[in-house]
Amino acid sequence: MTVPRQRTAGQLAAPAARPVEHNNAGRLLLRTLFWGGLALAVLPWWLGTKTGSVDTSADVLQAAGRVTGLIAGYLLLVQVILMSRLGSLERWIGARHLGLWHRELGGSVLVTILAHAALITVGYSYADNVGFTEELGTLLTEYSDMVTAFIAAGMLVLIGLLSIRALRRALPYELWYFLHLSAYLALLLGFAHQFSNGQELFRPGLGRYAWIGFYVATIAAVVLGRVVGPLSLNLRHRLRVADVVTEGPDMVSIYITGARLHGLDAQAGQFFRWRFLGRGLWWQAHPFSLSAAPNGRWLRLTVKTVGDHTQRLAAMAPGTRIFVEGPWGDFTASRRVKQRALLIAAGSGIAPIRALLEELPPGAIVIYRASAVHDLHLRHEIEHLAELRHARLWFVVGDRRAPGPRRLFTPGGMRELVPDIVERDVYLCGPDGLVEQSLHVLRRLRVPRSQVHLDPFEF
Ligand SMILES: Cc1cc2nc3c(=O)[nH]c(=O)nc-3n(C[C@H](O)[C@H](O)[C@H](O)COP(=O)(O)OP(=O)(O)OC[C@H]3O[C@@H](n4cnc5c(N)ncnc54)[C@H](O)[C@@H]3O)c2cc1C
Repeated sequence: MTVPRQRTAGQLAAPAARPVEHNNAGRLLLRTLFWGGLALAVLPWWLGTKTGSVDTSADVLQAAGRVTGLIAGYLLLVQVILMSRLGSLERWIGARHLGLWHRELGGSVLVTILAHAALITVGYSYADNVGFTEELGTLLTEYSDMVTAFIAAGMLVLIGLLSIRALRRALPYELWYFLHLSAYLALLLGFAHQFSNGQELFRPGLGRYAWIGFYVATIAAVVLGRVVGPLSLNLRHRLRVADVVTEGPDMVSIYITGARLHGLDAQAGQFFRWRFLGRGLWWQAHPFSLSAAPNGRWLRLTVKTVGDHTQRLAAMAPGTRIFVEGPWGDFTASRRVKQRALLIAAGSGIAPIRALLEELPPGAIVIYRASAVHDLHLRHEIEHLAELRHARLWFVVGDRRAPGPRRLFTPGGMRELVPDIVERDVYLCGPDGLVEQSLHVLRRLRVPRSQVHLDPFEF
């Protein structure tokens, strides 16, 4: 298997600019579906509570407990759908927004689960005129499916707490990920008590049918997004490692070949989740962006060796099979709203920026930030590409405390490098510090938020 290592002018053919696409309509539709679904989820409670009697404090607490339970269950299903990796959802909304919504909703799931458990237990203890712990014992022993429901609630609370950024960062990523995946088990454990004890759901009627519909939609999204989609993609393209090329002391490029690559529906700037089926690698899937626009013959990733897995990738043998999921992300040329673009990159962020340079219209400006010249990975390739694409290239090299680079990342310095910055889309990818500093400068220069595109290396 041979893969070209020299990037010639022929390989860097300039594609036509793509039409501007907005997925704001998709986001609006999903928001509408979300609120409509929530209204439908609590409608049986509303109807039942209006016609029933809510006289005593116990009634009020129980009614509040029931509605928080319905909201918690609904939010949990929405969380699973948001992370179902369904291709159409991803195209509508974008992986970044799906991830952000998932994170934002996480807190509400936690609060509503805790509120549901507490309100129901206190409400029943008032009605039975017994203490909280005695009522808890009764609920666990005399009501069906309550033990599993309490285990599920405990698991979900733990998962929610572990998602707090500081705690999450303290754990090895894989441990955090597998703990997070156990939310599926929690969903399964909590499912039965909804239908056996839930006043709105245990008898046939609108509520029960609506909830069965929610579960069916969630299972369908997960099966399609996580099983059917990836299987058909991999059977179709049968990807393999063609070559691993050293780009620098801590950076390698992985060239990939496969069948029918012309039919691969991917764009520069997107990423896949790559599972390399080699020894010690197969059990982990890691996200990496394409570092060259898809060309129908090979794909390429450029990987910074930061930990165990990426170090193993650097030593991987050609021929290794790959199981891939994707493509994802809206860090693409089709998201632009202006004719010209500014690209800002540092570290491994250069990978998607390098690919994007191929698909953006000519006239882009690239700011490539590095602390030393030897950290300017893919430098010659980018210079060559900049020439072909009539792009202007700025290497900003030096320690972050050095006065030169510091000044360039100020509103005045940035305006000197890019005088028409307000008239450009800005694509940003790099370490958190660079992204935050750049966003601050862009805000000060009043670059509209709709023109700023972020690649979320840190989900
Ligand atoms: C959308 C996206 C695109 C990316 N594109 C590139 C790229 O083109 N080139 C590149 O060099 N890096 C890229 N990364 C970062 C890359 O995924 C991590 O550096 C890599 O997974 C680290 O693995 P490790 O085991 O070697 O290092 P570790 O030391 O185990 O991890 C370092 C950090 O990487 C993150 N990470 C680890 N494992 C995973 C995982 N399975 N999924 C998600 N994040 C993980 C965690 O934040 C962790 O703290 C991208 C990340 C994301 C989210």
